[in-house]
Amino acid sequence: MESDKKLIGRSELEKLFSQWQSQGTRILAPKKNNDTIDFALVTTLAEVSLDQVQTVQSAKTSVFPRVEELFSFTSRDGRVVIRERDRNALPATVLFGVRPCDAAAFAALKAIFTWDSPDDLFSARMEKMTVIAVSCARADAYCFCTSVGGGPGATAGSDMLLTETGPGEYLAEIVSEKGLMAVGETSGLRPCPANVNKEAHLAKLEPAFAREKVAPALARLFDDAAFWAEQSLRCLGCGACAYVCPTCACFDIQDEGGGSGQRLRCWDSCGFGLFTLHTSGHNPRPVQSQRWRQRLMHKFAYMPERQQVLGCVGCGRCSRACPVDMNILEHVRSITEAKP
Ligand code: SF4
Ligand code: SF4
Repeated sequence: MESDKKLIGRSELEKLFSQWQSQGTRILAPKKNNDTIDFALVTTLAEVSLDQVQTVQSAKTSVFPRVEELFSFTSRDGRVVIRERDRNALPATVLFGVRPCDAAAFAALKAIFTWDSPDDLFSARMEKMTVIAVSCARADAYCFCTSVGGGPGATAGSDMLLTETGPGEYLAEIVSEKGLMAVGETSGLRPCPANVNKEAHLAKLEPAFAREKVAPALARLFDDAAFWAEQSLRCLGCGACAYVCPTCACFDIQDEGGGSGQRLRCWDSCGFGLFTLHTSGHNPRPVQSQRWRQRLMHKFAYMPERQQVLGCVGCGRCSRACPVDMNILEHVRSITEAKP
């Protein structure tokens, strides 16, 4: 649908929170917890933190939980009985206060989870979720959304985007039917005057590299072992970058319990040495430089080729979280600038 622009005040937003609550919809939003701000269940707008550049963790847990039961099983009289998850029991969710980069990240997750082996649990969660993003008035040195096709006020992946145009006053861009449903019959939304200049309220962020150069440069550098060794020298293989990333979707499957139990899907990371270890003992990526190369190849070459979407939205979380200060922006820039 065509974007519908309205003005909405904080008191109307508060009413929306009450409305969602009364409908039994869970609300996930950035919430302060001691020194960190992360997505958590909230019931009121007052609990939501919107001043941070970014949360530590991404919002991907809303559709791809860190650990999730795929099904449970019971062994009875020599037979195994499987009990599937009830898709209808998954909660309707409003994801409020994500940044535009995080909203865009759902396209990458969707491309992965609906690709060769469509995942109906993921799709059911996506279907039941409404994404209400808030534009970025500030960026930090780790942000690079404009280098990967996004922007501080981009609407991709959002059902509604809010841009603060004054204290407690927001421009609401309703860009999907879900966004329209989320607003419902709420009164107090006003038509947006033509002189509201959204751009004036957005962070300024110049592109830091030419994204069309990344995949060809990666292909050229693929066999340059010295280059990758230099790039990954500091990498500890701790996996923090993957765990905070809104688009990383590696997982492994574990069965818990003996005759009866659950099959679980758990986050994993291609940065871990054990990730590709075969039962035979062979590991196709035995050293960290190959694992670092894989991370970049997957995001900037394999995903665009296979799924026509970049695997990075430039949120900068991996760089902020890295204990040894590996900055993906600097690494990608150096890849595009490497001499053949
Ligand atoms: S967070 Fe840093 S050290 Fe850890 S795996 Fe990622 S790049 Fe390597
Ligand atoms: S790779 Fe880093 S910058 Fe890119 S989406 Fe993931 S966490 Fe954000």
